[in-house]
Amino acid sequence: MSADQAASLKYGVPQPFQFEAPSAWLTRLACAQGVGELDELMHFLGLPTQGDLDWHLQGEALDGLRQRCHLPPSSFAVSSRLMEGVALSGMGPHKLLLSGEDGKARFRFCPCCLAERRLPYLDIHWRFACWRWCPIHDTVLQDACPDCEALVQHPCLIESTRAGRAGHASLSRCIFCSGRLAGLPVQQLARECLQSLGRVERLWLKNGQATVAALYKQYFKLRGKWHIIQGLGGEYGLLVGFGSRRIDRKLKAWRLTRQFLAEDSHPAN
Ligand SMILES: [Zn+2]
Ligand SMILES: [Zn+2]
Repeated sequence: MSADQAASLKYGVPQPFQFEAPSAWLTRLACAQGVGELDELMHFLGLPTQGDLDWHLQGEALDGLRQRCHLPPSSFAVSSRLMEGVALSGMGPHKLLLSGEDGKARFRFCPCCLAERRLPYLDIHWRFACWRWCPIHDTVLQDACPDCEALVQHPCLIESTRAGRAGHASLSRCIFCSGRLAGLPVQQLARECLQSLGRVERLWLKNGQATVAALYKQYFKLRGKWHIIQGLGGEYGLLVGFGSRRIDRKLKAWRLTRQFLAEDSHPAN
């Protein structure tokens, strides 16, 4: 079946939230449709079964999805605009977006944001490697499930996972162990993480937020001058920290120390 001939879905289609990532919305769609195979849904919608769907869903591909799912024309407009900025920057999705080993969309998440959402969904800006701080909750975004350390990747067939079988078909649960991504302990962890970072790393975190805003606007201000987004590549490392490995190392060391101190004060019997 060609893309033009692809059938459409009229019922059981969740309405996308303004900042929602299409890849994670497809998880919600698969759940609402009760499909048995994710590839089946992708074929039905004329979407590729491999690779990064948030990157793919721009221009005609996104228009096609909107038509096939009877979505408003403004659906995923923020995601689409950001991907346009990624393309214009010349840096490419591989440098700017988080992805899993198989190229699937990978997410960080703010547990406090997730906890406040009646219907949990994942933001498109949580895909950006440089967006590591939630300005609403002043928290450091988390990379993985607090219980089993599995990464958060989409789309997935949530009903067939351990979480889904346990009746937790929600984007606020780890699909592998059913752990709570938005539980109170992980919310507290996300708030306290900032303590482990020094002045320079905190500046990188704030610059990361500004960098994603620049990709959306397609220009940025630096050293008192405005620049077009095509110039971002030359400044990126300086703005957000080269590779951000220093931040990862500090967060990991701080988490291990915190865990050690907690176990030391409550030794196992
Ligand atoms: Zn938040
Ligand atoms: Zn888990």
